[in-house]
Amino acid sequence: QEEYIRKPEWLKTKINTNKSYNKLKKLMREKNLNTVCEEARCPNIHECWSERKTATFMILGDTCTRGCRFCAVKTGLPNELDWGEPERVAESVAIMGLKHAVVTAVARDDLEDGGAAVFAETVRAIRRANPACTIEILPSDMKGDYESLHTLMDSEPDIFNHNIETVRRLTKKVRARAMYDRSLQLLKRVKEIAPKTPTKSSIMLGLGETKEEIIQAMDDLLAHNVDIMTIGQYLQPTKKHLNVEKYYHPDEFAELKEIALEKGFQHCESGPLVRSSYHADEQVSQTSAQ
Ligand code: SF4
Ligand code: SF4
Repeated sequence: QEEYIRKPEWLKTKINTNKSYNKLKKLMREKNLNTVCEEARCPNIHECWSERKTATFMILGDTCTRGCRFCAVKTGLPNELDWGEPERVAESVAIMGLKHAVVTAVARDDLEDGGAAVFAETVRAIRRANPACTIEILPSDMKGDYESLHTLMDSEPDIFNHNIETVRRLTKKVRARAMYDRSLQLLKRVKEIAPKTPTKSSIMLGLGETKEEIIQAMDDLLAHNVDIMTIGQYLQPTKKHLNVEKYYHPDEFAELKEIALEKGFQHCESGPLVRSSYHADEQVSQTSAQ
């Protein structure tokens, strides 16, 4: 029999479903687009969509070729590539009046370029239609294929984000088809291709990691020239996903943020509800100004 620990008070948020939110949801269906904000039932959706003017689009379909054990995205045979998607994302960014758009994608291990060409075209389409909007990309590791990485970087994103998701020891358990070092190498390579582009990575806490391991992950990211780190609480999307081993207290998140900044990250978001794309608009203005 499995034991579940109870969710603490600070995680019990209610999704604010006001009128503007419903309108935007409708827009996503009309444009046949997916957002992580909705897929992950992100508690920050109202703040991001309505106040901060940020959203995270998930392109290349709604079906992933991988099945990471923390992730709620469906796994299976992926959809046909949709070359109309870049324009529809760009139009939605305009209608939503976004100031910062995050583009992520399911892992398309079935495609030779991992979907990099459509991904890059999405960045370009957003930029053409919304020159003032900053763009952050959050791709998979593209199986470590640097040609695909170059295709992506040619579109000149404002931030490159790729998540290691967890500490080294737990990587196999949490995201079986990924590799800790491959992700680190990818982040380092981005800095070599585009030294001025801020790089960013995220870990989730509550999967059984120790504090020493978290600090080691910080050191590993810094050793690969990563500028921004985000740290959030893992929440179990369904009973089939990995259990939460621990809910960290907000004070623990605050302490980790301090450690990260002392160690040399230019920016760190750390808190129970922090997601990879949370407050990303601030990060771009702070890191690209230097
Ligand atoms: Fe969407 Fe990220 Fe904001 Fe959550 S934090 S609503 S996923 S942009
Ligand atoms: Fe989810 Fe990304 Fe893993 Fe696919 S690769 S299962 S979208 S975390």
